[in-house]
Amino acid sequence: MVVAMPNHREHADAYQTALAQYDRAVRYTSLKDDLIDYMRYPRRELTVNFPVRRDDGTIEMFTGYRVHHNTAMGPSKGGIRYSLGVTLDEIRALSMWMSWKCALVNLPYGGAKGGVVVDPRNLSLGELERLTRRYASELIPLMSPQMDIPAPDMGTNAQVMAWIMDTYSMTVGYSVPAIVTGKPLSVGGSEGRTEATGRGVIMCMISTLKHHGYHDATATRIAIQGFGNVGSHAADYAHALGYKIVAVSDVYGGIHNPNGLDIPAVLRHVKETGKVHDFPDAENITNDELLVLDCDVLIPAALEGQITRENADDIKAQFVIEGANGPTTPDGDDILNDRGVVIVPDILANSGGVIVSYFEWVQDLQAFFWDKDDIFARLGRIINNAYQQTQQTAEDLHIDMRTAAQVTAINRVANAITTRGFYP
Ligand code: GLU
Repeated sequence: MVVAMPNHREHADAYQTALAQYDRAVRYTSLKDDLIDYMRYPRRELTVNFPVRRDDGTIEMFTGYRVHHNTAMGPSKGGIRYSLGVTLDEIRALSMWMSWKCALVNLPYGGAKGGVVVDPRNLSLGELERLTRRYASELIPLMSPQMDIPAPDMGTNAQVMAWIMDTYSMTVGYSVPAIVTGKPLSVGGSEGRTEATGRGVIMCMISTLKHHGYHDATATRIAIQGFGNVGSHAADYAHALGYKIVAVSDVYGGIHNPNGLDIPAVLRHVKETGKVHDFPDAENITNDELLVLDCDVLIPAALEGQITRENADDIKAQFVIEGANGPTTPDGDDILNDRGVVIVPDILANSGGVIVSYFEWVQDLQAFFWDKDDIFARLGRIINNAYQQTQQTAEDLHIDMRTAAQVTAINRVANAITTRGFYP
């Protein structure tokens, strides 16, 4: 199948992006070169090739990865991605970003990421379950509630997490809900986890708009690339707060209505047809067109490498709030920064997911569950504090928000590493 948007053009470059961002950020720290070199490396990398029985009885081989970038601050944490674009380098980049993300919002975690090279839309439910269970069992030597705790990411969801939880639990002989987060409520999931990333993105957007003197929600036009777990919940929450969502898109393309989309109706349309295209009250557009639309806020909530040297000059939004991980390349960053566009970086803007994952893990370990109001109030406190601190660091050091966020995070990880000391 030809897919409209996830061009994997720059996927291979995600790790180059992560390293270039790192090299830029460490210039604003006083860390020694040997420590800087230490943190460039992922601690562990696992590659697994494993068989899955297809429904027709044949066996097909799949490749998966799990990378633990840094574990100085605690067990490693990060999602599992199912996508044809998955490469070891992409997972390395994403695991590094998880280290900085967890440190930035002060979670007692290191960073990890996993992925399987597969388009889950090409598998039946049974095939998806068998693939997940076999991949999970291959990860068991490197995963436990104290060592590494996976979660959903692109192409995976709560059901996939339930299968991972069950596979691990069957292996050890008792139920271990804290092995994975983003589970369904029925097996130890947390209230609010599904909405958390999208909600956190909008919380960061609101802080940014306020900081820059934009107070009128109904006059603020937002375009959102990606209508998966992050984009759809961001759109829904922003719409409920009165913001005008002028465009959304998914893998097949986007829709645009300059007067604002009725997001609950778009959600119903997607449920019925499987895509946003052909929504009655809007014009169909491409993903490339969405990125350069006339709007105030652009929320890339799909893939890495979307805002690049090719299109950064054409972006009209004054604010870019990164729902996706790594949506802006270093060249894209430079162009937007030079033009005065404010970018709220991924490790801050999309940290709501891992923050509520942390709440889920804590609740599972205590077998004591909190209500949704508690979850969202705590999420708001953490993410708003991180926003304020990043904003302040950016002003103090005269740097952009991404570099400021990474400086804070890298210093925290470095502090944990040196405090622990070097083994042996
Ligand atoms: N995959 C999400 C992210 O990129 C969530 C990770 C987690 O909850 O552990 O932040």
